[in-house]
Amino acid sequence: MTDTLVIGSGPNGLAAALTLARAGAQVTVLEAADEIGGGTRTTQPFGEGILVDHCAGFHPMAVGSPALAGLDRYGLQWAWPEIDAAHPLDHAAPALLHRSVEQTAAGLGADARRWRLLFGGPSRAYGKLAADILGPVVHLPRHPLLLGRFGAPTVLPAALLARFFRTEQARALFLGTTAHAMRPLTEVVSSAIGTGILTAGHHDGWPVVVGGTHALTEALAKALLDHGGRIETGVRVTSLDQLPPADAVLLNLSPTAALDLYGDRLPAGTRRSYRRYRYGPAAFKVDFAVEHGVPWRDADLARAGTVHLGGGPAEIIANEKAVASGRMPERPFVLLGQQYVADPSRSRGDVHPVYSYAHVPAGYEGDATEAITAQVERFAPGFRERIVGVHVTAPGQFAAGNTNYVGGDILTGAKSPGALLLGPRPGRNPYRTGARGVYLCSAAAPPGPGAHGMAGYRAAQLAIRDLGLRATV
Ligand SMILES: Cc1cc2nc3c(=O)[nH]c(=O)nc-3n(C[C@H](O)[C@H](O)[C@H](O)COP(=O)(O)OP(=O)(O)OC[C@H]3O[C@@H](n4cnc5c(N)ncnc54)[C@H](O)[C@@H]3O)c2cc1C
Repeated sequence: MTDTLVIGSGPNGLAAALTLARAGAQVTVLEAADEIGGGTRTTQPFGEGILVDHCAGFHPMAVGSPALAGLDRYGLQWAWPEIDAAHPLDHAAPALLHRSVEQTAAGLGADARRWRLLFGGPSRAYGKLAADILGPVVHLPRHPLLLGRFGAPTVLPAALLARFFRTEQARALFLGTTAHAMRPLTEVVSSAIGTGILTAGHHDGWPVVVGGTHALTEALAKALLDHGGRIETGVRVTSLDQLPPADAVLLNLSPTAALDLYGDRLPAGTRRSYRRYRYGPAAFKVDFAVEHGVPWRDADLARAGTVHLGGGPAEIIANEKAVASGRMPERPFVLLGQQYVADPSRSRGDVHPVYSYAHVPAGYEGDATEAITAQVERFAPGFRERIVGVHVTAPGQFAAGNTNYVGGDILTGAKSPGALLLGPRPGRNPYRTGARGVYLCSAAAPPGPGAHGMAGYRAAQLAIRDLGLRATV
């Protein structure tokens, strides 16, 4: 029997373990926390019955992920809000993102044709494109023409590509989504992550997990146990002496943690790359319990799962630049989540969980609660009066709860052009650490952050090949 270890039980760790177990390997997952799931957990800070996603809440890249295929048998259910995302503006109607390109375009006036042009073809082809997008950027593509059509605009700075549109709505909708990458939007390739999310979203929507994102973790864990895998919690791996002998070890860790653990056993080139690996801005998260929901000025926003509170294009660009250079803006970009709109099981009566986080500088030690509240109030006067509970997770708490979130960087690494193109280290395969039988399988490896499990899946497929096992999925 082939013995394998996975260190860390985030979605990538569990997806890696499941992929190995399905190929017939004996797998043990070691998790530092008392609870599995990493960034895919759900908590109840406001007491029984109000479900709050601790990290990942929306899943345009996960719902069609090959790494999560077949989990419906283990209880995984998705639910879609009526409107995927909305972007309110101070002096104009909000921009509304629907799964349908046509419906979205219809709301964008003079930009209808341009939105169709940018997202129509690629989103229709996403079924074929996904295999190319959800992996290393540098690879032999399965569909080179389709990938070229999708990839060409993503090389551009998001701020420049946004000028392809004429209306404030289309520009803000595009920039608000590209801001998920937490990079200066004037940088080359800063369009890539947002364009990927929009393309996948126009194909699969922006669903939530019924019962909270933790249900995704539970489904992965059930499938793993069903295939003979084991999970141990409360085991923080800080030394190789803690590890039993194994034919392969998959690290669901940041490159920094991988370097701390393996040190000189990694080749010099890997040590250099992992030492130079850079982290990005942080998230400051505030969860609210809100009676009767958010009193949006525009009623359509009450039907949206995600709401981007970032103001107009110039404001988004300026604030993302400020945060990346270590300055806290007065009105930071806030991503607000109303998961309960798609999944009413998360609310207790008429008290609803409203999830929000602001982009803040790396390691930010201030309190952004008021800045976030003010951003909501800006587009929903009277919001404050409806708040019946507040729960804060500051960057330091993210970092203390999960060492992959260095300085509160929830993306496990700055998404600079170099990191996007090459991954955590230059070389033919970003999942290899260069030490025999040791693989990196976290969000630091392609395709990067998200609850899609694809870094784990791809690293495990590589290990399966190296071990001479037969992949089953
Ligand atoms: C506030 C927030 C909002 C987000 N929103 C979204 C979203 O809407 N959609 C989306 O797709 N993604 C979102 N993300 C990102 C997503 O959660 C992460 O990209 C994803 O969880 C990364 O998965 P992972 O498996 O690589 O690692 P993680 O989920 O980070 O898991 C790593 C695990 O390894 C464990 N570990 C670390 N060190 C050790 C050690 N030494 N020994 C043992 N165990 C260890 C940790 O405790 C943790 O459980 C969000 C993240 C945050 C924090």
